Amino acid sequence: MVVEINRRKFLTLGAAAGAVAAAPRWMLAQAAPATDMVATARAGALNTPIKTTKLYDNVYLLQGAGGNMALQTGPDGNILIDSSFATAAPKIREAIAAVGKGAPHALINTHWHFDHTDGNEALHAAGFSILAHQNTRERLSTPQTMKMFHATLPAAPVGALPTVTFDQTMQIWQNGDSLELVHFDPAHTDTDIYIHFHNADVLHLGDTWFNGFYPFIDEGTGGTIGGMITAGENALAVANDKTKIIPGHGPLGTKSEFKAFNDMLSGVRDRVLALKKAGASEEEAVAKKPTAEFDAGWGKGMMSPDAFAGIVYRTL
Ligand SMILES: [Zn+2]
Ligand SMILES: [Zn+2]
Repeated sequence: MVVEINRRKFLTLGAAAGAVAAAPRWMLAQAAPATDMVATARAGALNTPIKTTKLYDNVYLLQGAGGNMALQTGPDGNILIDSSFATAAPKIREAIAAVGKGAPHALINTHWHFDHTDGNEALHAAGFSILAHQNTRERLSTPQTMKMFHATLPAAPVGALPTVTFDQTMQIWQNGDSLELVHFDPAHTDTDIYIHFHNADVLHLGDTWFNGFYPFIDEGTGGTIGGMITAGENALAVANDKTKIIPGHGPLGTKSEFKAFNDMLSGVRDRVLALKKAGASEEEAVAKKPTAEFDAGWGKGMMSPDAFAGIVYRTL
């Protein structure tokens, strides 16, 4: 079976995702090596503007070329969530300076993927310490293979590695708010955390949420469909109807929108599981189009319905 994915959409997901809806599809079997994948992403990020959206008095959503970022500003220092691509760092620093006078304080990584951590080294050099789950440091410390892209990424430079790590939870009291950082059991990867700003009631879910399209689940570094659904249930328990929820990719969303995503994941899981239990091979299961009823709503993003069904099958 040929797994098909729109590689360019993967690399440009973010505020501009909609602009590449007409981009040609890339066949995975012909995908370029990881060095090219990273170089293409970095080149794209160089001139991608950062869009800033105010979510609370001192909390902002920053959207550029990589994963969605969040920023808390204030006299205790600025906290940034995720660092996009290395070439975006100057624009990220400009975006921060445009809304806050605080000094750099902490950069939090939602997980290890390079569209969320490639800017780590530059922002660390600019004065941010780096906080993440301990598995993020481990994964960034050694070469990692992204199975779906047939790509092996080199170890990150020392300056990009998290300087403070935690296992299950961490609390930060900063700029008049408290932040709760909680590790999910393996979901999108085995490094995922959420960050909840209590007073601002802003919840960053990293790539456990792709708002509006089928998610990429990184089966090579611990991701599974079941883990995604469980993570979603845990996140739903944290949110209320007013919570502003930041997905790793796609627009800011609400609890009901996130619930629709998690319901879709459960629906696809149930259909693929039934086929697998009945003895269907991956190829046979995918050929039966188990995502069909969801494709109109979710099938127009980076993951083709067949590619997503394949991931679900393999991680059940
Ligand atoms: Zn991502
Ligand atoms: Zn990711």
